[in-house]
Amino acid sequence: MREFLRTKGFKMTPQRELIFRSFFEMGKHVSVDELYDKVRQQDSSVGYSTVWRNLKLICKVGLAEEVNLGDGVTRYDRATETPHGHFYCVDCKKLTEFDMDNIVGQLAIISRDNDFVPSGFKIEIQGRCRACREKEATPKKTTDAQAEAQKP
Ligand SMILES: [Zn+2]
Ligand SMILES: [Zn+2]
Repeated sequence: MREFLRTKGFKMTPQRELIFRSFFEMGKHVSVDELYDKVRQQDSSVGYSTVWRNLKLICKVGLAEEVNLGDGVTRYDRATETPHGHFYCVDCKKLTEFDMDNIVGQLAIISRDNDFVPSGFKIEIQGRCRACREKEATPKKTTDAQAEAQKP
């Protein structure tokens, strides 16, 4: 990592190293706040803007990319060799990944047919995860009992 950054013209400071290491330990879909909390557990002198700037740097050198789902939180995802898509649960805000190997070829053809040269593929599917659907399907026993108790 140190060497890699040097070839890109960046210096590796101890703080930067801590931020980078923490990010790659956390792995997926990390917000600035989450990374900041984790970094602060080990070095409370690191400022929020330092964490933010280094996240931008990680993206700039191509090791991660931003994921924006329109909920106001920018998440950072480590770059994967092959592109992956995201399922985004609108209830619990959880992100899960799926393999895009099967559809990338299709997307390339669509791009070509529309005379467009793609530089990357991103797919975000919004909806509700199984846990949230099952939560809703279970009858709310306590509420029913309360309603029963309130009957005259
Ligand atoms: Zn992801
Ligand atoms: Zn959910």
